[in-house]
Amino acid sequence: MYYFIYKTTNKINGKYYIGRHSTNKLDDGYFGSGLWVSRSNKKNLEREILLFCDSFEELLEKEKEYIKQNIDNAQCMNFNNSSVGFGSGELNPANRPEEREKRRARMKTNNPMKGKTHSEDAKEKIRQSSIILNQKRKDEGWEFPLEARLKISESRKGKKASEATKEKLSQLRKGKKPQESCTMKGKTHSEDAKEKIRQKALNRQKIECEHCHRLFSPNTYKRWHGDNCKEK
Ligand SMILES: [Zn+2]
Repeated sequence: MYYFIYKTTNKINGKYYIGRHSTNKLDDGYFGSGLWVSRSNKKNLEREILLFCDSFEELLEKEKEYIKQNIDNAQCMNFNNSSVGFGSGELNPANRPEEREKRRARMKTNNPMKGKTHSEDAKEKIRQSSIILNQKRKDEGWEFPLEARLKISESRKGKKASEATKEKLSQLRKGKKPQESCTMKGKTHSEDAKEKIRQKALNRQKIECEHCHRLFSPNTYKRWHGDNCKEK
């Protein structure tokens, strides 16, 4: 397993992203999981390894150091992921309490939507644009950053869907047979498509168990490792 800090640079405009990565394969084509990376044309991106580390712990440590050194550089895109809402903890300016307070105050006074509601037409436009964005992300193989996923799952723990939400979901399902929604029914993937699916599975984010130090997919990690690890 290789652990390293990398810098992904856009060759056209010089903007860059600092990240950490653990992989078995050095040339796995991974450029980072942030929104800036996923929205960039991969042809313009170049990844450079800045430092190899011996362990996952060291990697986390060094990542912080490198981000601290770069955070004030205007070309550094690490915290331009604001719509994803995650950064490296307290290093993310949006996570500092005074900054949060500032933003909240600004929203209160400057919010152009204050006291108004969107027209049905505008609502439809908003819905459509998010559908298009999601499709684009899917096409590019973008995955929601692991940290953000774990955070969301943590915040949802113990919460039950409201009756209204349940009703909505059940309405959505009505009249739809599961088979009908399957676009692959009766077809097979081409060899090329199969290879793409394999590659995607290989590049999927892995999380290291702090007890047995092996790598797992997020769902396996959550169920069988971490606090639930046999070697704990
Ligand atoms: Zn384990």
